[in-house]
Amino acid sequence: MSLVHLVLLAALLSLVTAASSSPGSRSILRDIGGGNADQKDKAVELNSTNFDSVLHDTPAKYAVVEFFAHWCPACRNYKPHYEKVARLFNGPDAIHPGTVLMTRVDCAMKTNTKLCDRFDVSHYPMLFWGPPTKFVSGSGEPKKTKSELLVIDDGRTAERLLNWINKQLGSSYGLDDQKFENEHVMSNITDYKQISQAVYDIEEATAVAFDIIIEHKAIKSSETSASFIRFIQLLAAHHPSRRCRKGTAEILVNYDDLCPSGKCSYEVSGGKDTLGNFPICGKDVPRGYYMFCRGSKNDTRGFSCGLWVLMHSLSVRIEDGESHFAFTALCDFVNNFFMCDECRLHFNDMCLSVKTPFKKARDFVLWVWSTHNKVNERLIKDEASLGTGDPKFPKMIWPPKELCPSCYLSSSQKNIEWDEDQVYKFLKNYYGPKLISLYKEKSVMGSKKETITATEDMTVATNALVVPIGAALAIAVASCAFGALACYWRTQQKNRKPRRSWN
Ligand SMILES: Cc1cc2nc3c(=O)[nH]c(=O)nc-3n(C[C@H](O)[C@H](O)[C@H](O)COP(=O)(O)OP(=O)(O)OC[C@H]3O[C@@H](n4cnc5c(N)ncnc54)[C@H](O)[C@@H]3O)c2cc1C
Repeated sequence: MSLVHLVLLAALLSLVTAASSSPGSRSILRDIGGGNADQKDKAVELNSTNFDSVLHDTPAKYAVVEFFAHWCPACRNYKPHYEKVARLFNGPDAIHPGTVLMTRVDCAMKTNTKLCDRFDVSHYPMLFWGPPTKFVSGSGEPKKTKSELLVIDDGRTAERLLNWINKQLGSSYGLDDQKFENEHVMSNITDYKQISQAVYDIEEATAVAFDIIIEHKAIKSSETSASFIRFIQLLAAHHPSRRCRKGTAEILVNYDDLCPSGKCSYEVSGGKDTLGNFPICGKDVPRGYYMFCRGSKNDTRGFSCGLWVLMHSLSVRIEDGESHFAFTALCDFVNNFFMCDECRLHFNDMCLSVKTPFKKARDFVLWVWSTHNKVNERLIKDEASLGTGDPKFPKMIWPPKELCPSCYLSSSQKNIEWDEDQVYKFLKNYYGPKLISLYKEKSVMGSKKETITATEDMTVATNALVVPIGAALAIAVASCAFGALACYWRTQQKNRKPRRSWN
């Protein structure tokens, strides 16, 4: 054996020794087995801290949890198989998003011992299948919910695992499926139920909007600072997602420290308390998972669709007394922070055309709706001539008759006569209860704790309706309950880690 071989062998041995002695280095061992260290893992690594929250919050209908041990050679060899399947379902480039969440838990980590015990893990790797909420603690002991949590008994190779999953789903997914096949794009716009998936898209769009502000260091003056605060106040009171309400309220409470005299620190690393380190909708918010807003091409829909849905969902949640504040907050937000210049300018023109302050929430809801339709009307023409639209989601004057027949008094090729009372009623329900119905459903199915979450969700939403938004900041500072919450958040914040995306 040459000297070079000896040095290589010694280096390899020291790697393996390091990997087996320190938990943090387990990834080194798995990378050797995984073959392609450059490719980011698609399966989501869970542990005792994030297990419940990730599985509770995932939009996916089913989850697979792989219990493994980082020292187990069979697990190491199994990883490429598992990842092949995870590639189909997880991450920004998922082929079939929103269907299955593929996860893994390292049972050799001391901190995960109790978690693995809960599932009676008897060998490695051991795979479980079921609705994500059924994995969450408090949803009943895994042994008792056996009918819903299944052990995957035939998943030794990627092909066999996918076959097993296909049998459960009644699907015919293949390992070679490519992104954006027609069947997973929600092109049936007349399906009323699809809006219930959009709450996840709104969370993502909110997080992306915030990222853009951080990236562009866009809070540059007292004017943009005031505009940012107004928008955050609106979100803290009325965002349909509880975790976004919480995240934005945290920013609001800490704003003076994060942006003294309107000068924000945007640093996104180092664990410091900076605006850049605040996960506006929680640290586990999905990225690249747009479902309701998923386009049939890589560069269509997504963020801008999510932003519209956010705006509509905010509009239906405000009270009469807040309507003009909400209008100003949205207009200023788009004008200062939406980095699409053409969009910003057109939208600003439509904002400036409003001469009398809104007094009724209804008027504001209908203004957002008709403004969106004006944009649609323009884009119908632009996209037809330029061919830049999404072929599966052509722009249309909305809602189509199939979604809301009663919204139409009459319609001809050139003109639609709307029944605005019916449109208002439709929008209130569609972007209100219908939008969060999946959230509620998940909570009802889940644990006692989750039921509280659901009640809390509804309570906040209901309270938010009767709290004038102009008072939101004052409430944050003055209200006892909110003050206590703020203290809690401040304490939490001390232990804050840098922001990271889900997968
Ligand atoms: C404020 C703003 C201004 C924009 N301005 C421009 C622009 O000037 N030029 C440009 O090229 N792009 C503009 N965009 C982007 C454009 O409007 C679309 O968002 C983008 O083309 C993606 O279209 P989409 O098919 O996902 O549907 P979107 O238009 O994004 O709509 C998202 C969803 O909202 C629902 N919806 C549609 N219309 C209405 C309505 N009237 N009321 C309620 N719900 C509705 C539908 O379910 C639809 O799928 C703007 C976006 C925003 C947020």
